[in-house]
Amino acid sequence: MTLSRPRVLLPGATLGVVGGGQLGRMFALAARVMGYRVVVLDPDPASPAGQVAEVHLRAPYDDAVALMRMGELCDAVTTEFENVPAASLAMLARRTHVAPAPQIVETAQDRLHEKRLAERYGCATAPYANVEDAGELVHAFSVVGAPALLKTRRLGYDGKGQARVEDLDGLVAAHAALGGVPCVLEGRLPIAREFSVLLARTASGEIAFYPVAENLHRAGILDLSIVPARIPEPAAQAARDMARRIAEGVDYQGVLAVEFFLLDDGRVVFNEMAPRPHNSGHYTLDACVTSQFEQQVRALCGLPLGDTRLLTPVVMVNLLGELWTPQPRWEALLGHAGVKLHLYGKTQARPGRKMGHYNCLAPTLEDALALAQTTRRALGVV
Ligand code: ADP
Ligand code: MG
Repeated sequence: MTLSRPRVLLPGATLGVVGGGQLGRMFALAARVMGYRVVVLDPDPASPAGQVAEVHLRAPYDDAVALMRMGELCDAVTTEFENVPAASLAMLARRTHVAPAPQIVETAQDRLHEKRLAERYGCATAPYANVEDAGELVHAFSVVGAPALLKTRRLGYDGKGQARVEDLDGLVAAHAALGGVPCVLEGRLPIAREFSVLLARTASGEIAFYPVAENLHRAGILDLSIVPARIPEPAAQAARDMARRIAEGVDYQGVLAVEFFLLDDGRVVFNEMAPRPHNSGHYTLDACVTSQFEQQVRALCGLPLGDTRLLTPVVMVNLLGELWTPQPRWEALLGHAGVKLHLYGKTQARPGRKMGHYNCLAPTLEDALALAQTTRRALGVV
């Protein structure tokens, strides 16, 4: 339950973010540019968001004292990752305004609940079946068949917590390998393109859509986002309509990202959603009038939403930890006109860890794609 809707929070107010990763960092930077004070809750002393906040509460996400303190300090609180304990958000919501609502954050933490929510609002999903425990594997396989993907219901990200399934024996082995935790079994779809819808909605019901982003993954991790997306406009419109129905249906307040598949036969399928800004929306930092993080501030504060207009074609390139040997050759990247670099202040580079990204801006999408390829080669990405 959230408190009644807040008055408009003007610059000078204090905004909290639960979670101190790169999304929290970019939220904090946007908020501070606009004259807000920022409080971050994250146990990691080196937290990317903690580095740029006025106050960094270094405590676990379920620390009652820290949550109480955050509730006292903040005029409103948002989150930057889905896996904040729902009870913590509920505790905060008794003391301050929390948006998005704890309930929707909780729903998005569980792939089964998320799919059911999407279906309730008329979204097509992949065929799926719940696997509460190993006893449900045979039934799930009889519903979904092969080829399939087994995904843990909770805590999966960047392709982690997933296994490809070709037959029943493989399913049994995959479930055991995932620790026997509750999962969903999903039919593996013939995907032509992946893309995401990014929107913001305020408590008063104003809604703003960003241009959809086309997403290319590598080893399960987002690699490139391409905008404008190379998908037919009716597919983009169908996806926007689905995302709007969800946002309006749950009376969403904040930035919402919804991932979709465009199938070979032209159908548009809901994949998953994130109740926050999204990696595939990082292009907005340099290519749109209003970034997704400024928009998150505006939505949280009840301000008018910013202009989402795309100013230039753009390709966003993720920078993962394997490039740190010990540092990428920044001079090889930054010599190119149209490149905008964003680093997250992480000191420990690990393979697959998101360390930063850069946006390639160019007068045509073709040029932006070429710039992304040239600069990647210069950085030594194979
Ligand atoms: P994550 O939380 O790791 O992003 P996703 O559910 O988005 O999990 O899956 C990661 C990637 O796996 C997707 O971007 C897509 O490339 C692929 N994928 C996921 N579900 C399916 C499916 N049902 N059929 C085919 N490919 C899929
Ligand atoms: Mg995904």
